[in-house]
Amino acid sequence: MYHSGAVQILRRLSERRRVASLHVLVYHRVNDDRDPIFPGVPVDVFARQMEFVGRHFTVRPLVEAVEVLRRGEATDNAVAVTFDDGYMDNFTHALPVLRRFGIPATVFLATDVVGTGRILWHDRVFAAFRETTASELTGFGPLPSFSLRTLDGKLGAMGRVLAFLRRQDDLIRSQWIERLARRLRVEDRTVVSGLMLGWGEVKAMQAAGVAFGSHSCSHPILSRVNLERVREEIVESRRCIEQQLGMPVRAFAYPNGRPGDFDATTKRLLAEAGYTCAVTTTAGVNGPDQDPFELRRGQPWDEDLATFAVKFHLSRLASG
Ligand SMILES: [Zn+2]
Repeated sequence: MYHSGAVQILRRLSERRRVASLHVLVYHRVNDDRDPIFPGVPVDVFARQMEFVGRHFTVRPLVEAVEVLRRGEATDNAVAVTFDDGYMDNFTHALPVLRRFGIPATVFLATDVVGTGRILWHDRVFAAFRETTASELTGFGPLPSFSLRTLDGKLGAMGRVLAFLRRQDDLIRSQWIERLARRLRVEDRTVVSGLMLGWGEVKAMQAAGVAFGSHSCSHPILSRVNLERVREEIVESRRCIEQQLGMPVRAFAYPNGRPGDFDATTKRLLAEAGYTCAVTTTAGVNGPDQDPFELRRGQPWDEDLATFAVKFHLSRLASG
């Protein structure tokens, strides 16, 4: 229970700082699959977290929340809920919860995979490690050999492989993933129906009050592709969503989103293309002076609501 003494004290402390702030939560998948390779937030956990933020905070769509913050009119308890990538379970599992608690969320779509059956490159890697029965991974690029006999071994190897792949150019990365699948003796599927949202679901979510932003077209690391490609990813994804939904797209989520995955040029191109804000995956809460093209976000830290609540309040205190 989150009505424990510690949470009450933290809540009172964090409510006493009357500094305008915006706390942006980032989710990817919501489901009960208990997949250790790419864990989703279980549906009942997500429901408890949404009930908590809905009860104690002012939750707004991201773009509106950023505008209010910049005008200096934000309350000290503003929250925005966001989802990256556009997984189908955002529609099947998250949407009913968002509706139940009246939470306005923003979903960032990578437009190449919406309604096409195609999947993002990291999901090809997840599938390879999920499905493999190989006992080890050897001879993969410059990486050492890894034992895959235990889940920890698999997760450790996958972390190193993902870090290596993030440093590669897009085309080369795809070839490396094909090579990975061969090494792990699994089929490399680039099309998996039902994993990502289609435009029908996106439109139904829009009708239910969900907002949409761009997460690029193909989810490249923007600082690792050439300028023309960056511009195309930023402009074309926005045009595509606007055409489908008939509403302006103002928010962008950087693929991967860590420092170094975007730069000053990326931010300039976003502003030129008509975006008004962009979110990273750097942890923290945003004050009125935060660069709107470098907004921090918090993870849904813990399945236990008391721990979630403590971390939520602590991150606000730490930011003030
Ligand atoms: Zn992403």
